[in-house]
Amino acid sequence: MAEKLDIKSYNLIELQEQLQGIGEKSFRAKQIYKWIHVDKVSSFDEMTNISKDLRAKLGERYEIRTVNPVQILTSKIDGTKKYLFALCDGIVIESVLMRYHHGNSVCISTQAGCRMGCKFCASTLNGLERNLTASEMLSQIYEIENDIGERVSNIVLMGSGEPLDNFDNVIKFIELITDKNGKNLSQRNITLSTCGLVPKIRKMADMGLQITLALSLHASDDETRKQLLPIANKYSIREVLDACEYYFEKTGRRITFEYSLVSGVNDTKEEATKLAKLVEGMNCHINLIPVNPIEERDFVQSDKEAIYAFQNTIEKNKIHVTIRREMGRDINGACGQLRKSFMDKQ
Ligand code: SAH
Repeated sequence: MAEKLDIKSYNLIELQEQLQGIGEKSFRAKQIYKWIHVDKVSSFDEMTNISKDLRAKLGERYEIRTVNPVQILTSKIDGTKKYLFALCDGIVIESVLMRYHHGNSVCISTQAGCRMGCKFCASTLNGLERNLTASEMLSQIYEIENDIGERVSNIVLMGSGEPLDNFDNVIKFIELITDKNGKNLSQRNITLSTCGLVPKIRKMADMGLQITLALSLHASDDETRKQLLPIANKYSIREVLDACEYYFEKTGRRITFEYSLVSGVNDTKEEATKLAKLVEGMNCHINLIPVNPIEERDFVQSDKEAIYAFQNTIEKNKIHVTIRREMGRDINGACGQLRKSFMDKQ
């Protein structure tokens, strides 16, 4: 039997075409779309305004794929939840729910594993397993909303994977999650973090999206950046920053620079000054992330004093800077660590 089609991955127009293709009226598409993307049902039988016959017909050809929680950890400190989800083929991925007073924010994975090889990141240790589909990205949000019975208002593409290495599916996901017939999230409530795939940043800028771009900078000179991010061998900091400026010109969206502080590698006051000079004049914000050490590497987190000194130095140069608040300290492993320990056990 042929594999059933993933009905959650269609936009409304594609769904209309699908229905026409099986001899159905296209207005049904809007009803079905709403069941999938607003009511977040997991079976055709729940679509009560659709005839039994059509439900059966849909079930023969399509399936509503979802992601199934295999483990959920909840922080007793701040309610942060880490989800380990199994995909249809048994691969597991990680998502995180963070509860802020301004709403619920979810960090989703865009790939199972990653091939970028950043030195301090646990997600990349076993390489890339596969790209996630748009529907698998949506399902992470929908399942978390179903689990907590609340709306998710902010999405960050900062889980496992390099979103711009899975460009088409990520763009499709953004299209679907912001569709006014579906969840209708504002693009402005989405942040995409990239290690800096320059041509893809420029391509995204040309699409005129309104999402926030977060760039993993992590160093103020190319040599140091190469020690941490292999992608730095391909694109220089100058090229990456030019692409970010282009993104700002095209979209008017302020850029976020992520800078993970690693003791003895990139955390001196001199480096803070160099960093400030580097981004001077750009409409940006720097987010400092005290490195979260992973077992497999011997990176050490900068001490509090170094972190605050680094922040102060940047502030003195009149650049917006914040230290990323650690959420769910009691369940906190570095990005991708929960997934990795689960896979190692298997
Ligand atoms: N592929 C995307 C998303 C990665 S995760 C990217 O490269 O931007 C989001 C951020 O966390 C990135 O800036 C990443 O470099 C950083 N990061 C990953 N592992 C980390 C760790 N163990 N400690 C601190 N920051 C880490």
